Amino acid sequence: MIPFVDLKTQYASIKAEVNAAIQGVLDSCQFTLGSEVSAFETEFAAHCQAAHGIGVNSGTSALHLALLAAGIGPGDEVITVPFTFMATVSAVDYARATPVFVDIDPRSFTMDVTAIEAAITGRTKAIVPVHLYGQPADMDPILELARRHGLVVIEDAAQAHGAEYKGRRVGSIGDLGCFSFYPGKNLGAYGEGGMVVTNNSGHARTIRMLRDWGAEKKYDHVLKGYNYRLESLQAAVLRVKLRHLDRWTEGRRAAADRYDRSLAGSGIPTPECMPYARHVYHIYAVRNSERQRWQETLLAQGIQTGIHYPFPVHLLPAFADLGYSAGDFPHSESAAAEVLSLPMFAELSVEQTDAIADALRDLASVRAASRSWARTA
Ligand SMILES: *Cc1c(COP(=O)(O)O)cnc(C)c1O
Repeated sequence: MIPFVDLKTQYASIKAEVNAAIQGVLDSCQFTLGSEVSAFETEFAAHCQAAHGIGVNSGTSALHLALLAAGIGPGDEVITVPFTFMATVSAVDYARATPVFVDIDPRSFTMDVTAIEAAITGRTKAIVPVHLYGQPADMDPILELARRHGLVVIEDAAQAHGAEYKGRRVGSIGDLGCFSFYPGKNLGAYGEGGMVVTNNSGHARTIRMLRDWGAEKKYDHVLKGYNYRLESLQAAVLRVKLRHLDRWTEGRRAAADRYDRSLAGSGIPTPECMPYARHVYHIYAVRNSERQRWQETLLAQGIQTGIHYPFPVHLLPAFADLGYSAGDFPHSESAAAEVLSLPMFAELSVEQTDAIADALRDLASVRAASRSWARTA
């Protein structure tokens, strides 16, 4: 069986370090915030080339507090994409603002920067590009539009730890950047976690208060805040794992490169890495109109795959109130119908990527053969 993600192999490779870090937290009995959290904030912000990092309890909380710190509230519109995990959009909803969608560029799966301007109204306050699958959105045109219209840019970098846009690390390119440490993410906690990074010290201070009940000092609540604190155990695990992240990212990129080369010429569309991007391959998705049959056939051969995501957010029942309908964002809709995520993790072996690519090539050639048979008949 080749799993879609393999957290056990990774844990086995760092077991002694992780166990010692956890024991350290247990011995300290400091279970939330504290020195592990502040050390991790410093280390992760540095990894993102950002001045400040504020640890929170999830990527969703990071997005929520970034929006609040940017002053987003009722009546404001926030431009984002429908081809993302629903949390991007829910965070806008938490801030009681209105999500406004623009379609994706089908080559990069990220925001179509040529569609943004038409979506800007007098109520637009922010743009939230999503670095989907670990590939940065095309940030320069986004920043230029934001400057021209006085908008805040909040990066959803939940899938893109360490990714680079024109040599700059994501998260610190816009005004605020949001990360998730959900276990399956490129840098994953052993539980939940998230972080906002920013170069803006005012935003950092606001978010630091909001994550801990809006308190300036204990019991001095100057803002209506939240219990969004990052746990010390998670920070301790994440500090250990951060030391291995660059090597793991290279493992992902090497696996993606092997997939690219083995699938070249098969007729299967593979991910396009944009010239401005250093892709970190949180997800490696191929496309096929017979995705379900492919997924079932692969599973029968012991190959687990995933779908990210089967429905674009504008068509989810949960967001019916936004009033969108089928056909509004054709590139997001066809991506949602066709993408199939192949196993992707740093430890994926050559034998595994070869076996997966062989299975896919067989599927593609069966289809090509049945097509040519249909033509001759
Ligand atoms: C995972 C994810 C989130 C939410 O992060 P959580 O830590 O699960 O709350 C937000 N946006 C995107 C694009 C994600 O992939």
